[in-house]
Amino acid sequence: MTNVLQNIPSVNELLERPPLRQLVERVSRTTVVGGVRHFLDNLRSEVQQAAADVELPSPGELAERIAQWITADQTLNLRPVINATGVLLHTGLGRAPLADAAVQAMQDIARGYASLEVDVTSGQRSERQADVAHLLRRLTGAESAVVVNNNAGATLLALAALAGEREVIVSRGELVEIGGSFRLPDVMQFSGARLREVGTTNKTRLADFAAAIGPQTAALMRVHASNYAIVGFTERAPLDGLVELAHGNKLLMIDDIGSGALHDFAAYGLGDEPVITTSLRAGADVVLFSGDKLLGGPQCGILVGREEPLRRIARHPLMRALRVDKLTLAALIATLRLHQDRERAEQSIPLLSLLSTPLANLQNRAERLAPQLAATAVVGQAEPFAATTFVGGGSVPTQELPTWCIAISPAHGSVDALAQSLRTGPIPVFGRIQKDRLLLDLKTLFPRQDIELVEAFQRLEPSPKEVENDAS
Ligand SMILES: *Cc1c(COP(=O)(O)O)cnc(C)c1O
Repeated sequence: MTNVLQNIPSVNELLERPPLRQLVERVSRTTVVGGVRHFLDNLRSEVQQAAADVELPSPGELAERIAQWITADQTLNLRPVINATGVLLHTGLGRAPLADAAVQAMQDIARGYASLEVDVTSGQRSERQADVAHLLRRLTGAESAVVVNNNAGATLLALAALAGEREVIVSRGELVEIGGSFRLPDVMQFSGARLREVGTTNKTRLADFAAAIGPQTAALMRVHASNYAIVGFTERAPLDGLVELAHGNKLLMIDDIGSGALHDFAAYGLGDEPVITTSLRAGADVVLFSGDKLLGGPQCGILVGREEPLRRIARHPLMRALRVDKLTLAALIATLRLHQDRERAEQSIPLLSLLSTPLANLQNRAERLAPQLAATAVVGQAEPFAATTFVGGGSVPTQELPTWCIAISPAHGSVDALAQSLRTGPIPVFGRIQKDRLLLDLKTLFPRQDIELVEAFQRLEPSPKEVENDAS
């Protein structure tokens, strides 16, 4: 055993070997030296613990193994991917992609100092949300606006500031859990507000709200059923009725609309989405929504509404804990500026351009790409395929959108294996599996990625084992 230990090459000797020398150039000397030491320590304890003598690999092979080990350790999961799932707001894939102008704004602000809380004219301290609030007021017609980390944060803050220690009345049918453990009842509890559930899962009438109002009530709240739909025998209290009831009892009306459509999305086939201005016009005092859903901006939660409740929200201590940084502000402001012109918004906000791409365009591209994919070694068959998809991301649960896909059957092996190898390439590709075929959906594929998609397939070679199995 001692012999084996003595035969382990030194760190310096290993660093001279080509795989590790190359790695030093690519990563850094410190990282590679640290990695080699760590690997050798592990190897020594393995040798010491082994019952019999272990056979050491040659120094060249050892260097190769260490280089692979260090490389794997340096590889991150987070990286850009091709979203061919057809789900436009895919929470797992980062929801809304940002407009070029938003990316540029973030970069400009990130690289140096910025007048975040200084008024450039007077040189005096200014309010960091002044610009964004101004834009939000103009776009929505609201008296006031506040931006926080996300919509879950907006809910927490609104309830803490407006209903802390008091009661909020919510319909039982709207006590939702929205992906990744956002459970409205839990968030409400943290806020200090007491939840008063009324009605039944499928039916809640205005009278149910009215009967629950008492001296402890601070607000009525409505929550949009973003990721599910209760269909069939249902009844929901209308917003204008709720507003009248709330104001008649000197209560606030809080409306969590979820995805933040600035205008009617019916033209995109999403007619059921609540619209910010509609909610404000109906008289809601505070309207909450996410920045990275239908608004197509960065992750954030936006509160718009009447001046007085929003002032209380802005002054609450939680505001400091939930406030957004300069990069989010820069990206949101740039996105909102694009929204000032609807046509420009459609051209330059990725979510809106994907939503508004004509179906014929998707079909053309599917027809053009299918034979190119079919020509690669890993594909057995590839054909254009008309399908339907969803917006996703906790938006628009029931409205299907027509789309075009390329349906792929692998040349060898299972469709799961093909899907996995596509995910593990240098630019991971995500599709969806349906009836033993891999569907690549053009709805979420940017035209500039068409070529990248074909290249991702070309890089995949069937493993010799698979070819052998198929031949036998
Ligand atoms: C998505 C959603 C939320 C959570 O928003 P985040 O920005 O993800 O925190 C809350 N309420 C509704 C109705 C939603 O749709």
